[in-house]
Amino acid sequence: MERNRYIAQTELDQQRRIAEEVYLENRDRDLTFFVETFGCQMNVRDSETIKGELVDMGYSEAESKEEADLILFNTCCVRDHAEKRLMGNIGALKELKDAKPGMIIGICGCMMQQEGMAKKLLRRFPHVSLIFGTNVLYRLPQMIRSVMNGERIAVTDRADDAIAEGLPQMRDNQRSAFVNIMYGCDNFCSYCIVPYVRGRERSRNPKDIRDEVVSLVKSGITEITLLGQNVNSYGNDGSTGMTFAELLAYVSDVSGLKRLRFMSSHPKDLNEDVMQAIATLPNVCHHVHLPVQSGNDEILKHMNRRYTRERYLSIIRRLRELVADIEFTTDIIVGFPGETEEAFKDTMSLVDEVGFAAAFTFAYSPRQGTVAAKREDQIPESVKKRRLRELNELQAAKTVKNNEKYIGYVGEVLVEGFDERGEETMLYGKYQNFKMVYFPGDPSLLNSYVTVRVLKTNKNSLLGEMIDA
Ligand code: SAM
Ligand code: SF4
Repeated sequence: MERNRYIAQTELDQQRRIAEEVYLENRDRDLTFFVETFGCQMNVRDSETIKGELVDMGYSEAESKEEADLILFNTCCVRDHAEKRLMGNIGALKELKDAKPGMIIGICGCMMQQEGMAKKLLRRFPHVSLIFGTNVLYRLPQMIRSVMNGERIAVTDRADDAIAEGLPQMRDNQRSAFVNIMYGCDNFCSYCIVPYVRGRERSRNPKDIRDEVVSLVKSGITEITLLGQNVNSYGNDGSTGMTFAELLAYVSDVSGLKRLRFMSSHPKDLNEDVMQAIATLPNVCHHVHLPVQSGNDEILKHMNRRYTRERYLSIIRRLRELVADIEFTTDIIVGFPGETEEAFKDTMSLVDEVGFAAAFTFAYSPRQGTVAAKREDQIPESVKKRRLRELNELQAAKTVKNNEKYIGYVGEVLVEGFDERGEETMLYGKYQNFKMVYFPGDPSLLNSYVTVRVLKTNKNSLLGEMIDA
């Protein structure tokens, strides 16, 4: 297996040495950080690495921005409102910085990989001194040391598309964890900025993935979600010696791993082998997040999705045939350029036909540099809004219907949290197929598995009772 897809160990070791120096130089200062994460699970996972590296340098997590010595925004740029929101957030920190001049304010993540963005932000916000992109997280120690020495830096180079293994991490919870199996994306869906900011698709070595899962399970985690922009194309470049279906089998037999999830699945690459793996591997969960984006073939073609409505529906049918209790969630974009009323109706009819457990719905947002943004047949905002509303209303009705079939259902739930606002404490968690249920119980059950029977539905949620803890 070729290893030059990886950052050299000597370089990683050098960063660890710098981290130690930063720690030793500042150990009397009780430094704290506050990292705010926007966007998808990839960013959540990156923030865990960033926090881990900061802890390595002697920082601890602050409760609020006001207390922190370092504030970092991990940004998203999939839709354009994120940029306006970020500008507001950064502007608001000037007062804090004036009151505490030693404070470091930084911005990282996908948006920083957009052309010209880093320079623009450094120019516009003199109180920002640290900017870095998605592919240089391993160099954080060096960056922090430079900023501590008074420099203002922006590190957003793309040459570092190679993978950095073994970075420190600070995990946010003790029950579930995200594990990257690949980075970047090669699909170039015509609306999407991800391939431009996250770089080419590259898959991790299967052994590195499994080792990470083993160590997480040892630390008490029982639910793992394998992450990639298109997990089904794992290893397609031949670099890993394993397909995604094989990787599922390889990871699923880690002793103590109760639930194995994965996302996102691209319909063009979800093949029979993956479906069989879902059907037969005992801890692979019966849930597929399968973004459809549109129900109209013409729009799918212009989106460069490389599947048809019929192919999508055939995957749903086949998986339902193989796995009785499987649930699907999806992503949908309305108002893609050229989307006629007829085309939109095709999306509505697909949503009606499939009966998704949930759908993440978006109004198309033109992203500079993408193919679709250059099209002249953009849809007016008012039309996008109306279509989004209609779609959301339909999905809400479908969610209620989907919930109804669960009355009387009994299954194991992993307790994720609790709500103490009402008269009795309500715990909540998910069945293995991703359906969420609320039920009375004691908060001490957090992170454990309990058996819950569904008694009724309440708008979007299932309500149940615990029959065994
Ligand atoms: N890789 C995943 C996939 O293909 O399913 C999706 C990653 S993307 C971060 C998450 C979702 O954002 C997409 O599935 C799509 O629905 C939505 N999205 C991406 N670009 C968009 C745009 N320009 N406007 C609106 N929604 C967009
Ligand atoms: Fe974007 Fe398409 Fe890649 Fe998903 S598969 S990240 S939507 S380009």
